[in-house]
Amino acid sequence: MSSAEAATAADYDVAIVGAGPSGATAADDLARRGYRVLLIDGSTRIKPCGGAIPPRLVRDFAIPDHLLKARIKSARIIAPSGRHVDMPISGGYVGMVDRDEFDEWLRQRAVGNGATRVRASFREFTRDADGVARLRLTRLDDQGATEVRARVIIGADGASSPLARQAMPDSAPPPLVYAYHEILQSPPSNGESYDGERCDVYYQGGLSPDFYGWVFPHGEKLSVGTGTARKGFSIRAGTTALRAVAGLDTVATVRTEGAPIPMRPRKRWDNGRDVVLAGDAAGVVAPASGEGIYYAMIGGQHAALAAHECLASGDARALAGARKRFMREHGRVFWILGIMQRFWYSSDARRERFVTMCADPDVQRLTWEAYMNKRLVRARPMAHVRIFFKDLAHLLGIGPARSPDRSS
Ligand SMILES: Cc1cc2nc3c(=O)[nH]c(=O)nc-3n(C[C@H](O)[C@H](O)[C@H](O)COP(=O)(O)OP(=O)(O)OC[C@H]3O[C@@H](n4cnc5c(N)ncnc54)[C@H](O)[C@@H]3O)c2cc1C
Repeated sequence: MSSAEAATAADYDVAIVGAGPSGATAADDLARRGYRVLLIDGSTRIKPCGGAIPPRLVRDFAIPDHLLKARIKSARIIAPSGRHVDMPISGGYVGMVDRDEFDEWLRQRAVGNGATRVRASFREFTRDADGVARLRLTRLDDQGATEVRARVIIGADGASSPLARQAMPDSAPPPLVYAYHEILQSPPSNGESYDGERCDVYYQGGLSPDFYGWVFPHGEKLSVGTGTARKGFSIRAGTTALRAVAGLDTVATVRTEGAPIPMRPRKRWDNGRDVVLAGDAAGVVAPASGEGIYYAMIGGQHAALAAHECLASGDARALAGARKRFMREHGRVFWILGIMQRFWYSSDARRERFVTMCADPDVQRLTWEAYMNKRLVRARPMAHVRIFFKDLAHLLGIGPARSPDRSS
């Protein structure tokens, strides 16, 4: 991008700040629709992430097989007492991606479909006399500063969203959970303490007082980590403790990294004029699970559709459609997961009962179906009724302390 180019009327129809899953998806969608799209890629490190994705994402976003480093066939849920429940996945899997490869593949797909990519960091949002938004960028290839004008800006710049801070100063940022993980060389699978086709999820207050600890296999490597919103709790110390509990304390460490995760969707995703947010910037990570990649990509699609409607009609109110449509589809699930997290993750006694509940075959089937296909399953009304009463019994403390069939 030369300064001569930057001086033209509006350089781009849409400029997208941030090239993670939400930004790259929005860029791809808008480029396919024929818009002039600038994807501003400010990444200077691999995004810290467990990399777990559902089959629905693989299907809907045409993710090629080679990006899946592992296909997980079951989850082991571990209680504060050390007791565990195995949850096999029938008829499906959890996919594991490495974010360096995955994000790069998404960016290149967008470029292949016509988006322009610039390696640069967003610095400043201003508005020209003619009302068009102007972004000041610092290029990461040592080519100095550059400026672009665009008719619509999509903020896909992560949980702290520098763009939202400047372009939407009245929008309260979402509260954040801090998550940290370590990438290790995978030990050999032994089917017991470590299994390359199994996710281990630790519900233990000592590892996280309000979230969970995880071991996610990625083929030759694995991710082990934990998260919390609690100030003063050391997630590094929690991860060290988790490694010891999981028997991974002597395994070689490849790298260590952390990042914030938003805890709830922002109240507004657009400024009513020319800016709309997507993904972590909009605050869309599922409570209780911390799943954000799928929702970021859906958010990217919704932001792209809203930008398209705004550009096609000239009516900026169309930008509000991104949040409206997303919340219509996923708001109920977020609400239920939020209640679950606040209740079940609040003490070790409740975590113990939560793990007991996970032994229930109805709970397992509906959990996996909901996770894999991203919709609340309506097909088996009696299973919902059974779960409702079992859940009630557990909430009231009258459920069985443990289930003899699946717990060990
Ligand atoms: C430790 C950890 C583990 C996680 N595990 C999982 C998991 O297993 N499964 C799952 O689904 N989700 C997981 N998540 C959540 C998931 O990583 C996020 O929800 C997802 O990455 C959001 O995508 P995004 O595109 O909105 O934002 P991001 O992936 O954060 O991308 C934002 C992009 O914006 C760029 N950017 C930021 N500032 C600027 C700027 N000023 N200028 C230009 N660019 C900028 C960044 O460099 C980055 O490339 C995890 C998160 C953490 C922290």
